[in-house]
Amino acid sequence: MRLVSNIAAMQRLARKWQRAGTRIGFVPTMGYLHAGHLSLVQRARRAVGKNGVVAVSIYVNPTQFGPSEDFSKYPRDLKRDLKLCRAAGVDVVFMPGDQEMYPKVGSSRRNDRTARRAVPTGFSTYVVEDKLSQTMEGASRPMHFRGVTTVVAKLFNIVLPDVAVFGQKDFQQAAIIKRMVADLNFPVKIIVAPTLREHDGLAMSSRNRYLTGNLRPQATVLWCAIQMARATVKKSKAFPAAKLKAAVKKLIECEPAAKPDYVEFFEPDTLLPISEVTLGTHMALAVFIGKTRLIDNAQL
Ligand code: AMP
Repeated sequence: MRLVSNIAAMQRLARKWQRAGTRIGFVPTMGYLHAGHLSLVQRARRAVGKNGVVAVSIYVNPTQFGPSEDFSKYPRDLKRDLKLCRAAGVDVVFMPGDQEMYPKVGSSRRNDRTARRAVPTGFSTYVVEDKLSQTMEGASRPMHFRGVTTVVAKLFNIVLPDVAVFGQKDFQQAAIIKRMVADLNFPVKIIVAPTLREHDGLAMSSRNRYLTGNLRPQATVLWCAIQMARATVKKSKAFPAAKLKAAVKKLIECEPAAKPDYVEFFEPDTLLPISEVTLGTHMALAVFIGKTRLIDNAQL
């Protein structure tokens, strides 16, 4: 397995593979890998075949974190990640540093003082999706998707993948990436792979590591909320979204450490909110469990 942290070196390698007709499958991650990430690696391998190559990027992207979010605390364990990648048959891990991705050329003293996450003055071009990113995660985390689309566009230009695999766990993110690829004509096929869950239904996430003590059992409330909504629409053909939203929020608030951020019912292609929930409607929710913000989604 090759380890590459330099952009030019990664592009050279990708071009070499392209010239040889080798298909490149790509899984972008922020590291602290779990079985959900590794399922995307397997999906990428399946997509490119045994003669193709699978690239994984490990990069905690500062531009997608808000000022009061967990960028500096985000869990990192590169040694363990590399071991997992090697065992999963990854061909190359691209792991750039912040200076490589967002050069601080000409950075001002003001930026230096506003912590490591400060927007570097050597970088000023962003990719913004303007429609699908307005609701849910976009409404709760302003600038988040601008950071995501920008870094994914950069990574696509560096890794030059034929296929990239994203998780349905971040449903809105996957929808926005698909839109960006279509709108800006990136020659990449986007595959969205299913959410891997713990035995009790909690969606796997690097942030689950924050769930210590009695917070962990309370985190299953997201999955319970989805099950409850599913059972409700199974019983009655159409159910008013506002009423179901209120019922789901009430269920969540039964857990002492849980605080709902949003619960949405929407049309999966447009992400537009719907007023009558039926079987097939998509549901997404974000819930604080203590200080940890978790998200989940499913088709009902
Ligand atoms: P992250 O490292 O959290 O940025 O995630 C990297 C990729 O893994 C994204 O495409 C996520 O949607 C995907 N992912 C995260 N958690 C899961 C999961 N539990 N199951 C499947 N894919 C996941």
